[in-house]
Amino acid sequence: MSAQTVVKFGGSNLKNSSDFVGLARIVKAYNRPLVIVVSATFGLTNKIEGIIGSAINDHTLIAGFIDNLKTEQVNLVNQNIPDKALRNECLHILRQRTEGLKAILQRIALIGEVSPSLHDLALSYGERLSSVLLSHILTAHGVACQEILPENLGLITDGHFGDATVNFARSAPKVKAQLNEDKTYVVPGFYGISADGEVTLLGRGGSDFSAAAIAHCIDARYLDIWKDVNGFLSADPRFVPNARHIAKLSYNEAAELAYFGARILHPGTISPLKAKKIPLRIFNIENHDNILFPATTINGSAELHPGVIKSIAFSDDFGILRLKGAGVGARSGILAEVTNRLDHEKINIKSVITSQISINILLSVSDLEKALKSITDNPLATVHEIETVTNISVVAVVGEGLMEQTGIMYKVLEAAASQNINIRTIVMGASEVSAYLIVDQSDRNLTINIIHQNLFETDKQLNTQQYEITTAF
Ligand code: ASP
Ligand code: MG
Repeated sequence: MSAQTVVKFGGSNLKNSSDFVGLARIVKAYNRPLVIVVSATFGLTNKIEGIIGSAINDHTLIAGFIDNLKTEQVNLVNQNIPDKALRNECLHILRQRTEGLKAILQRIALIGEVSPSLHDLALSYGERLSSVLLSHILTAHGVACQEILPENLGLITDGHFGDATVNFARSAPKVKAQLNEDKTYVVPGFYGISADGEVTLLGRGGSDFSAAAIAHCIDARYLDIWKDVNGFLSADPRFVPNARHIAKLSYNEAAELAYFGARILHPGTISPLKAKKIPLRIFNIENHDNILFPATTINGSAELHPGVIKSIAFSDDFGILRLKGAGVGARSGILAEVTNRLDHEKINIKSVITSQISINILLSVSDLEKALKSITDNPLATVHEIETVTNISVVAVVGEGLMEQTGIMYKVLEAAASQNINIRTIVMGASEVSAYLIVDQSDRNLTINIIHQNLFETDKQLNTQQYEITTAF
């Protein structure tokens, strides 16, 4: 087993200039070699996305954007690196990289459209700037470390722009060979390199996944992810004010929660860790004085809670492609043809629910139109009607033991029924630790709160009035 722990700092840990010193303090407290994965500073990825969009129409905006970025960097460096030589070295590299980003933005403006490859390359600069900053600031605070980029590390992806996954078989030997167990490294997260050497992003929030992938490749002792919240809770506290803290989750529970919309982790984070039994510890930066106490620890042990359900997650990013026709559920080949076409369009299927007269395919909302077109362009004889369903939410309940214990779903459904919530679909059995409901988006807040109350707050009476107006998320 490797001596190394992989530590990931996200954009939420990099909101202010003084945050870098806080990270240096945490890194020192570990008192051992680390592989540190870092995201872009808070909001920078969105800003780069924004300038890409506007530069196409007005290339003159690029100069102002780059100037602002440079000013921010100079301030950050001046505030965090006292040593002049180190400061100048850091500024020099930052300037080179920022000029690199500028050249890409200019190319995009010149062509007048954003190719997936230039898009991914431009967005990767948020992380590339962070890793220069953090590695120099750590050095300035007495932590000897080296920046290493995913292209030099050998983090190879499947080449899928925008939302790639890591090719573990190809990456592991390279990554292992690059990282010396006795040294501390700083790696920019969020991207890897395709087999042809192109930058491919690992999806939004992808630095969690970068860190998990590297941990997998080097058989790390732990993956520690630092957040600005107290780990996993029984529901999203922005929507459920009485959400409770969860100290331990199994890999399967955390994976299902992330899949069903718990925004705390990139959904791909768990599986590379589970495969190598690497514990994931989530720390709250607000409690950084004590690195011995993670907010939530996720590992292979499946603990049962007395109430079974540990947490409720929801996602609005589900839409249904519904194919109707007498007997679609009984004919062979229809689903194969449909999934083939979706695969051809690189559309990910989130779930499939079939009946005798209809096939319901759950997709990301942004894929619905393309999916519909892929079927209507070349109609299937057996399908007489196709519709898409939007403005729905998936609400999932997650807990080890869900399939073994009776009465759990009764409580969930009883809660929904008590508020006359119309449940469009119920799915259970697809995984041993989760079940989900589909409701109208306008009922989502009430649904999660009433279920939360019925499962976790039997002592409280919910004031349902406050959920009558729902906010789209
Ligand atoms: N900076 C990227 C994003 O905002 C990746 C990350 O934060 O993990 O999506
Ligand atoms: Mg992030």
